[in-house]
Amino acid sequence: MIFKFAKISARVYEKVICYALVYVITPCFFIFEMALVRPIVIKHYNYGILLHAFHVICGTFCFLNVVGNMIMSIFTNTSVNKSVRVGESYCDTCKIIRPAKAWHCKLCNVCILRRDHHCFFLSRCIGLYNQRYFILYLTYILISLIYSAIYNYYFVLTRIQEYDLVLSLFRIFNPFFRYMSTEPPSIKDVYVLFLCLNGGLIFWSGLLFIYHVRNAMSGVVARDSRLKRRLNMTMLKNNLMNIFGTRWYLAIVWPFAESPLPQEYVMKNI
Ligand SMILES: [Zn+2]
Ligand SMILES: [Zn+2]
Repeated sequence: MIFKFAKISARVYEKVICYALVYVITPCFFIFEMALVRPIVIKHYNYGILLHAFHVICGTFCFLNVVGNMIMSIFTNTSVNKSVRVGESYCDTCKIIRPAKAWHCKLCNVCILRRDHHCFFLSRCIGLYNQRYFILYLTYILISLIYSAIYNYYFVLTRIQEYDLVLSLFRIFNPFFRYMSTEPPSIKDVYVLFLCLNGGLIFWSGLLFIYHVRNAMSGVVARDSRLKRRLNMTMLKNNLMNIFGTRWYLAIVWPFAESPLPQEYVMKNI
């Protein structure tokens, strides 16, 4: 009973974080960058109208791709179709015969086609049909974080001198320095702290990006990531096509574009 309750509350907790991330945190981050940081940086460094427009388009493009790929990762059904009674192994929980690369997820409580892993932040399993969105979500979140970090750095420099920035970094990372410094902590430290958080997120999402993109390029799922494979250009091209689909050139720039997976690859996994 207690275990069951703990499992349910963990699932609810995961869902709350997921929806907060998609519908609150990411849009708030975008609004903060666009409405507060951008105008100050553009004005301070005297950007022309063309450069200004270019940054607005780039920022909006990244935001739409981050949120769009998140939403598509969450709402794309990648579970085993229970009415199809063909496959190679039997799932005791779902009571179905499933394809060879399908695995049961205890959190989603279904068998997932070509299951890669269960993503805590999206509260979903990543499998055959939503891996495209997940990889592109990681790609665009990394690009957006680097882009915003550059903006945030210049924003901080409009508020404080480079010397103060170093001083503030010391104050944040070394609690003892706070008592040695003659200058008291101020709002400037909050700006610098925000920049540090931005840097930390780049590091973390960068690691996730490297791990998952390497697996995708090798054509393996997370549980087989230790398998070493020699790749040639044709294999690499096929592996990427199996994720981004036959219309990959549209899939990589627009999350809602249709890009069906190659038929023979789908047949192998369903
Ligand atoms: Zn199952
Ligand atoms: Zn799952």
